[in-house]
Amino acid sequence: MSLRTDYCGELSSADVGRTVTVAGWVDTRRVHSEHLAFIDVRDHTGVVQVVVDQKVDARSEYVLAVTGTVRARPDGMVNDALASGEIEIADTTVEILNEAEPPPFPMHDRTDVDENIRLRHRYVDLRRDKMQRNLRARAKVNSAIRGAMEKQGFVEIETPMLIASTPEGARDFVVPSRIHPGDFYALPQSPQLFKQLSMVGGMDKYYQIARCLRDEDLRADRQFEFMQLDAEASFVDQEDVFAFISEAVADATEAVSGERPAEIPRMTWQEAQERYGSDKPDVRFGMELNDITDLFGETESKVFQTPVVKGICMPGGADELGRNAIDDLTDKAKRWGAKGLAWFRVRDEGLEGALTKFMSEAEIAGVQERLGASSGDMVFLIADSRRVANKVLGLLRLELGRPPVNEGGFNFLWITDFPLFEEVIDGNPIPAHHPFTMPHPDDVEMLNTAQGDEWLDIRSQAYDLVLNGWELGSGSIRIHRSDVQARIFEILGIGPEEQQAKFGFLLDAFKYGAPPHGGFAFGIDRLTALLVGEENIREVIAFPKTQSGSDPMTNAPSPIDPAQLDELGLRVLPRQD
Ligand code: ASP
Repeated sequence: MSLRTDYCGELSSADVGRTVTVAGWVDTRRVHSEHLAFIDVRDHTGVVQVVVDQKVDARSEYVLAVTGTVRARPDGMVNDALASGEIEIADTTVEILNEAEPPPFPMHDRTDVDENIRLRHRYVDLRRDKMQRNLRARAKVNSAIRGAMEKQGFVEIETPMLIASTPEGARDFVVPSRIHPGDFYALPQSPQLFKQLSMVGGMDKYYQIARCLRDEDLRADRQFEFMQLDAEASFVDQEDVFAFISEAVADATEAVSGERPAEIPRMTWQEAQERYGSDKPDVRFGMELNDITDLFGETESKVFQTPVVKGICMPGGADELGRNAIDDLTDKAKRWGAKGLAWFRVRDEGLEGALTKFMSEAEIAGVQERLGASSGDMVFLIADSRRVANKVLGLLRLELGRPPVNEGGFNFLWITDFPLFEEVIDGNPIPAHHPFTMPHPDDVEMLNTAQGDEWLDIRSQAYDLVLNGWELGSGSIRIHRSDVQARIFEILGIGPEEQQAKFGFLLDAFKYGAPPHGGFAFGIDRLTALLVGEENIREVIAFPKTQSGSDPMTNAPSPIDPAQLDELGLRVLPRQD
């Protein structure tokens, strides 16, 4: 039999006169006299006020069961802020189910608490309203995604956790094998190769809410382990992938926010770079980058005799940014790779700014017109290579204009036509996505002719999904032919022997009738965080690691027994630090 009849937050005037039992934690208590106290009892639905007229020593976070009669609160005592604010439970019997130490931090959302302390006592932290809301929103996201994939005919397939390494561009977590001393499994950076192999295996449409592990430096938006919706389908093109993923994110968004996003717009990678200086543009605000190179065709100043001049205008920035702020931005621009940062304030009386002396009247007028800058605005210019100008102005734009995470609605955006390679190191191009991505059909020929930086001009059939300037996920149409895959490996500097050793199984599989296929994966932690308006993904993860990758509650990572090491055939070297 259940220990309760009702949930605290669900009682209302409709229950007046009923005898009920609620159970939960002591949220607050107000003691009026030895024989009269009011206790707010809390469960995951909310709180209810309980009138106690016996002597009960129930302190903060004690666990109680309270039986009594629901009655309307006296006039003037109604609390509009609470769902159950019109009623209270009176004539009560209180049973203390468990005592509790005083909580390690204040339980109310209003207070800022050190994150380490919260994580050390996460079981208490999870009782707080915000964590309850966030984790329940996350469960809705998972459930909506599952529903969306199932209704579109996707089959859930579980892929292994102990695998050989999959190259997704990060470091692997490895697990030593006891039975094969000296050998290691890797934990999956993603189920990438298994999902592709399941396509070769005729599964047609695969999905999984998959745990992925990457040994990367942690930031606010990263954890070593994270969850993603991982999907793959056969005989599809990019449009099909956009359609099934859009359905999943739309259903998830609607489940949490009640709003269904409109059809997701698209932008090519090239356009995103030119207009926003980023492959994950935050389109919630303007301040777009403008190419004004042509205005400086005749310039006499060396400063502007560069391949590209681009600028942004910050509306109202003239008064907002003082000298210190500008110096600070200039330092940042230099750190990001610029030689300097040109700026001027537009005023009715004329312009203010050091660099204006290097510009002719016509150039100044042209810049102002092109950037739409009027009195009170601030203009920033970067004269450099296209890559540097885009990157630096893109970062500057975010610094100056990015709205808080919970403002501006949900602006999903597909970024298409990613380059196949992101940089060339020692003559070897490095994949922008992963080595299994199909090149763009119009650029395949370039794979045989490209040299030096030309590699960077080859487009791929890879695409990203962006939400409010955050990369939610990526995917691509894959290579499904053994010869093309081997050629890409070769271009990446992976020779025939290494190909055979690391990816022989994949190249083999492609020889046994691999269908054309493509897929996608997006992060559930990040999506949930944005849907509930949290900057930090740890706020939507039940038991996250700290920024230094440890768990203050269980003390992971921690040393293991010498006997365990022996069994695994491992020896730990003394630390170098
Ligand atoms: N495996 C990729 C990732 O985890 C996604 C994909 O290409 O489907 O980012």
